[in-house]
Amino acid sequence: MIKTNAPELSYWEATQFFKGIDLLIVGSGIVGLNAAIFAKEKAPNLQILLIDRGALPSGASTRNAGFACFGSPTEILDDLKEQSESEVFELVAKRWKGLARLRERLGDEGIAYKEWGGFELFRKEDQEAYEECQEKMPFLNREMAKITGRKAIYQNVDQQLPQFGFKGVEKLMVNKAEGQIDTGKMMKSLIAKARKLEIEIINGLGLDSFQSGAGGIDLVLDNGWELRVPKVLIATNGFARQLLPELEVLPARNQVLMTKPIPDLAIKGTFHYDRGYYYFRNIDSRILFGGGRNLAPKVEQTNTFGTTSLIQEELLKLLEEMICPNQKIEIEQWWSGILGVGSTKKPIVKEVEPGVVVAVRMGGMGIAIGSLVGEEGVQLLL
Ligand SMILES: Cc1cc2nc3c(=O)[nH]c(=O)nc-3n(C[C@H](O)[C@H](O)[C@H](O)COP(=O)(O)OP(=O)(O)OC[C@H]3O[C@@H](n4cnc5c(N)ncnc54)[C@H](O)[C@@H]3O)c2cc1C
Repeated sequence: MIKTNAPELSYWEATQFFKGIDLLIVGSGIVGLNAAIFAKEKAPNLQILLIDRGALPSGASTRNAGFACFGSPTEILDDLKEQSESEVFELVAKRWKGLARLRERLGDEGIAYKEWGGFELFRKEDQEAYEECQEKMPFLNREMAKITGRKAIYQNVDQQLPQFGFKGVEKLMVNKAEGQIDTGKMMKSLIAKARKLEIEIINGLGLDSFQSGAGGIDLVLDNGWELRVPKVLIATNGFARQLLPELEVLPARNQVLMTKPIPDLAIKGTFHYDRGYYYFRNIDSRILFGGGRNLAPKVEQTNTFGTTSLIQEELLKLLEEMICPNQKIEIEQWWSGILGVGSTKKPIVKEVEPGVVVAVRMGGMGIAIGSLVGEEGVQLLL
């Protein structure tokens, strides 16, 4: 939808900002930024323009929980019920490699990477899932060792439960190779890297529609400007259907809270439970806690930001009763972000029209796979 009709481009604007573009990337989340950086590293003379309709990247990449995770035991076992072993472990391997690429590209400093472990909590009602994890742990550790080169990454760590102080949690498992990052720092580092490589980034400018033709791809921007470029990469994830209604990717909103600083916070690491529908972590002596979209899947299948009292109340209850039962907790902030999900966890990377490639559907794993998915999209174009 055209928002406003901007004044016609001046000669100076047209020549300096829009002339000679070789590749237009739509969406400056983790995928779009990595795609742009990779393309420029591969072909330094390429003129790349990255546009995002938000004042900041406005989807999931600046709004997520910052888990650098690649596979909790219940998630992998659940996936194995629906997909073949090779499919499941291929995706896990991609997450592992993707995290390595992100760390290599920006450095651990640049993303504030901390390998403090990814924990999974089991309550009384999770007994069946816990027993399955116990039974399959040797198999999972064997498969994960092939991918990570590290032995016994899954371990039982019930002895750490008293230290964390949870209530109603009976068992605890850890993936020792998982970590956490500062999401904001990662995005700032990606933007700084892209700018250093002279990639042009324009915020507040969206793509409204496009059409491929013999002379290139004709684009209409959301302020009414028109442009023709030879190649386009669409990295708009949960919003992809606004441009491509046939694509098998749906929006899914996730709501998150941030507490005020908690004195002597004992929680350290990333934690999930209930098949990953709930997740929390420490950051700057605070707790970030999110999830619960399974409480209202239809309502949360939206690309509109916002919070609902149903999910807020449940998150608050769990925070007070289970995560920090003996402390007075104050909330500083609530926000939401939009995921792109589908019937499988595999991202969609494909050419949709001549010269137009999409790289979308990161699910809840964009930090892990976003770098490689961006690269794959570019490889289809260059
Ligand atoms: C609350 C929350 C917690 C999460 N936690 C984690 C986690 O701990 N670990 C993890 O790995 N993943 C997590 N994720 C998922 C992860 O954040 C995403 O998978 C990832 O950020 C997706 O990146 P992206 O670049 O594909 O999309 P996005 O970051 O959504 O970027 C898409 C961009 O496209 C722009 N855009 C949309 N339409 C247009 C248009 N027409 N024209 C121009 N621009 C447009 C948007 O403004 C947006 O900036 C979480 C997500 C949420 C919401």
